[in-house]
Amino acid sequence: MRFIDSHIHFDKYDSNQQRLILGEMEYSGVDALISVSMELESCLQNKALSKVDSRIKPAFGFHPEQDLPTEFEIEQLLTWIEQYEDEMVAVGEVGLPYYRRLEGNTVEMHKYIELLEQFILLSKKLDKPIILHAVYEVAPIACSLLEKHSIAKAHFHWFKGDSKTIDRMINNGFHVSVTPDVCYEQEIQNLVRRYPIELLMLETDGPWLFEGPFEGRMTHPNMLTQSIAKIAEIKNVPLQKLSDIIYRNTVNFYGL
Ligand SMILES: [Zn+2]
Repeated sequence: MRFIDSHIHFDKYDSNQQRLILGEMEYSGVDALISVSMELESCLQNKALSKVDSRIKPAFGFHPEQDLPTEFEIEQLLTWIEQYEDEMVAVGEVGLPYYRRLEGNTVEMHKYIELLEQFILLSKKLDKPIILHAVYEVAPIACSLLEKHSIAKAHFHWFKGDSKTIDRMINNGFHVSVTPDVCYEQEIQNLVRRYPIELLMLETDGPWLFEGPFEGRMTHPNMLTQSIAKIAEIKNVPLQKLSDIIYRNTVNFYGL
């Protein structure tokens, strides 16, 4: 079986961990990492990492679960992304804040929505896929923006949301990826049950840490072997067939 980690923050691992992962990828059957960026600094790091090892495929964007950038920073980032568009596989990670609000921060949602729309327009202009962080109540807002601009190549990473939104996303042909928490989270197992295999991908969102069977372990793309086993069980599809489909989905989606 071959795998692609479709969402990892590879720049957020320290250099020893990066060396370890890169050294073990071949043995673990992992062919590529889609390494998403948090902001401009992170874009620069992911771009540099992709020069060191071509299996690292960078995506450039701004993570929404943090303070809004200034107008100047937004302009600077958008200009930079256009300048290096040939070096990225997608715009990401972008989206809308959810957890930030739960933590009690006041969030000027309309400004985040405006920023997301700018990234959507950029992905359309550059003809690149877009990687979204938009869960629960904010997911329908992201869906509406994508529909408004007729975007089909959208990847909702670690998606969580209600069944109405899930059906809307399926109708739009949006992709979702699941993390290793599919092995122990009922909510994610239900999503997998409902979502067509042709629109599924795998991710770790590393270095984010997981629980259950992964407790105390550094998040490593080799965890995808456990995710795929669980998905095969849920979907009742032979493991090899399932991993071939998911691998192909990812290669096609990202044009690898
Ligand atoms: Zn992420």
